[in-house]
Amino acid sequence: MGAKKSVLVTDLDNTTWDWFEAWFRSFSAMLEKLSNDSGVPRSQLEAEIRPIHQLRGTTEYSNLLNEIPSLRAAVLPREPAEVFDEALHALHSERRRATRLYPRVLETLNRLKSEGVTVIAYTESVAYWTEWRIKHTGLDGVIDILYSAPDHDLPRGVGVESLRQRDPSSYGLRQTEHRHVGKGEWKPNPEILRAILRDCGKAAEDAVYIGDSLIKDVSMAQSVGVLDAHAEYGQVQHRDEYNLLRRVSHWTDADVERERALPSGVIVPTVSCTSFERVLDLF
Ligand SMILES: [Mg+2]
Repeated sequence: MGAKKSVLVTDLDNTTWDWFEAWFRSFSAMLEKLSNDSGVPRSQLEAEIRPIHQLRGTTEYSNLLNEIPSLRAAVLPREPAEVFDEALHALHSERRRATRLYPRVLETLNRLKSEGVTVIAYTESVAYWTEWRIKHTGLDGVIDILYSAPDHDLPRGVGVESLRQRDPSSYGLRQTEHRHVGKGEWKPNPEILRAILRDCGKAAEDAVYIGDSLIKDVSMAQSVGVLDAHAEYGQVQHRDEYNLLRRVSHWTDADVERERALPSGVIVPTVSCTSFERVLDLF
């Protein structure tokens, strides 16, 4: 494996925590409540949600309810987020309950740090929810530097502050440094990973990269010449519940199809991890 490794670059969603489980539970709870309270069928809500997610480039869009046409029409002149606040409460409380680290993630990162390894996180999720998850799971300060997408666009006249319901001091990271990758930059673009390593003064051979997606994470690390570790425990694409994400996702149909149709054996990870802790063997 060559040089001694001095930096871990880790994906976050479904690598350090089960993003999908938290998303699925919270989003389904919200949809169910919305459909019951508004009388709009779930299938119609899902169909109206997809283009909004695509426009905003995320499946975690804070102003979603106010932009769903059938909900708007149902409650005019009031705002859907105000009328259907119980659906939003269901979303938030399920998300809080279901967002948890995978086993031994915290211990593994602390062990690496005690051995002088720099811990970098790189996620495609938007800044706001990523910061929330890092704080919620206790990784603020355990991750040295976070690279994420910038926050999603908001409609004119809606400030991010108006969507935040807690004290301003409860937002933002205290110890982890948060840097942004360019808007519209997506994995597996190798240029982003190269730029991250340059930015931190590291070379490809200094680094280990761990992530759950063969298409996005493993192939990106491989094309940069970084030792890739596949978080196979985080794969959820085979689960029936994953179809809900496909139906409302901001991804294009082509992206969804490319992932679904990937034949096994096309992207072969260098190291397969049955738990996050296995990266310790690579340092
Ligand atoms: Mg991931």
